[in-house]
Amino acid sequence: DFGDKHISISRDDVVVGRILGEGFFGEVHDGVYKSPSGERIRVAIKTCKDGSADVKEKFLSEAGLMKNLDHPHIVRLIGVIEVDPVWIVMELYEHGELGNYLVEQQYILTTATLTLYCLQICKALAYLEGLNMVHRDIAVRNVLVASSDCVKLGDFGLSRYVDEQEYYKATVSRLPIKWMAPESINFRRFTTASDVWMFGVCVWEIFSMAQQPFFWLENGQVINQLEAGVRLHKPQQCPPTVYSLLTRCWAYEPHGRPSFGQLVCSFSDIQRMELEQDTG
Ligand code: ATP
Repeated sequence: DFGDKHISISRDDVVVGRILGEGFFGEVHDGVYKSPSGERIRVAIKTCKDGSADVKEKFLSEAGLMKNLDHPHIVRLIGVIEVDPVWIVMELYEHGELGNYLVEQQYILTTATLTLYCLQICKALAYLEGLNMVHRDIAVRNVLVASSDCVKLGDFGLSRYVDEQEYYKATVSRLPIKWMAPESINFRRFTTASDVWMFGVCVWEIFSMAQQPFFWLENGQVINQLEAGVRLHKPQQCPPTVYSLLTRCWAYEPHGRPSFGQLVCSFSDIQRMELEQDTG
């Protein structure tokens, strides 16, 4: 139940197209949605193959969180179809996942553009920080590319609201260990500060052209390395100014990390400088 029914749409207004990919709950298709004003919008349609009530509820909970979000760099929810088969309908970003896009476009992407993507993701996270929402799964696989100069943070499947002084204690086992802060690995503790750590790892992925962080380690080895002070190295294309921010995002103590608000300021400055260098 979504409280208000504003996000319910009719299946008659949706035309389903080809398969885009496989989501956790089922296939994701592209398609077209006819809005009440008659506008035709290209959409991505998430489906849920398990019809049991509790799985459907978990599936739809992502939409329940997303319906309250309105930001230029967050995936936009169009609506849900709550009658079987349940669907989540979102705006379509035709370039797909940032991870794949980085690999395909690696020889074309400039440092200024990569820094722009970081800034946009950071702005989306500063917005969530203001709503006391933790994302918990910040990674290039969960960022979609709308155009060559616009990315959108998506996949709110693990997101939760947290009270100011509180944190979300995770129970699920499907956690992205190599992206996680030490307190998240050790105590399943998730806060805005642990999102800052993950954002740092996501920036590392961007400048590494989507290499997997700690690909040389097993999940079980990561926490020992972090506690011994080991951190991801500076990717070749990463400006030293960006890397020095990353090392602060990876402070062992959550309180030692910058806020997203501060990171937006720093990334804005760096992005402007990179752009000036590129355009001479
Ligand atoms: P997981 O939890 O494993 O990441 P999921 O259920 O969150 O899966 P997504 O990863 O969001 O599912 O979606 C699966 C695939 O569908 C993605 O890899 C992406 O290629 C595509 N996709 C999802 N949403 C969109 C969208 N709004 N625009 C374009 N492509 C999308």
